[in-house]
This record gives sequence, structure tokens and C-alpha cells, in this order.
Amino acid sequence: MKKNFKVGKALLAVTFAVGLTSSVSLADVASAANSSCATYSDGHHMYLKGVVTSVTDYKTGKKLNNNEQWAYYKCSGDGEEFIAEGSPEFKNVIGKYYTGAAIKSVAYLNTGGVSLLQIQVDSSKVKSTTSNSIPGYHFYQPNQG
Ligand SMILES: [Zn+2]
Repeated sequence: MKKNFKVGKALLAVTFAVGLTSSVSLADVASAANSSCATYSDGHHMYLKGVVTSVTDYKTGKKLNNNEQWAYYKCSGDGEEFIAEGSPEFKNVIGKYYTGAAIKSVAYLNTGGVSLLQIQVDSSKVKSTTSNSIPGYHFYQPNQG
């Protein structure tokens, strides 16, 4: 069983390497990561999109970010959203974070250049890590390809 899985992954890698469109199921690959991307086989490509000035619970309105600014990211493929206390695009510790399913609303405040955001989340779905990376997510600064 394990051997077959390895062969399957190798075939998949070859298929991508030669750039062919494939109907091979990605189920095995997806189950290996915390979160799968609908567009990219190696996970979400999260680009920094703005500074979050306000994180509140969508039910109670309680402020969750203690006046610190968080960072807002969006996947360039399937649009998955992500907010974090830290700055993983600079390899800094992520700290508290919310993934797309926990983000309930996003409001932009246009300030002439920098996007400031007010975000409502389901605070029962908060996650936290002392690492600067999360399996299935890649973080980039806004000016990277
Ligand atoms: Zn994605």
C-alpha cells in the first residue's frame, strides 16, 4: 500500500513536470496537508493584501486584536483568505490566525495607497502557532510574482 502510494506520487510529479493536463485524482496529495488549494497542487499562494486594523467577533462584536495590526492575505489561485497576528511573509512567527472558514466579513477602508481592513471572525475558530509556516500555505510579499 505504501509502495503504491509512492509510485502514484512519482507519476503525479512527472505529469506536472511535463506540463500535461491531468485527470489524476489529487485526493492523496490533499490529505497530506492541513489545507488544500483548488488551484495549486503545492498549497495556497497567499499574498499580503492589506493591514488589518480591527479584528472583532462577528457575533459579539468583541475586539480581538488589542489595537495591534494584523496582516491580511489572499490566495492568488482560489481566493482563500487568511489573517495573522504575525508576518509569515517575512518568516516571522505567525501567532494567532484565522483561515477562510472562520473569516465572516472583510471591509476595506481606502486611505490612498495602503489597504486598511476591518475584519469579523468566528473567534471560536482561532488557531495559533509559534512557527513561521503552516503546511499547505505559502506566504508572499505583495510585489512577488
Ligand atoms: Zn488557494
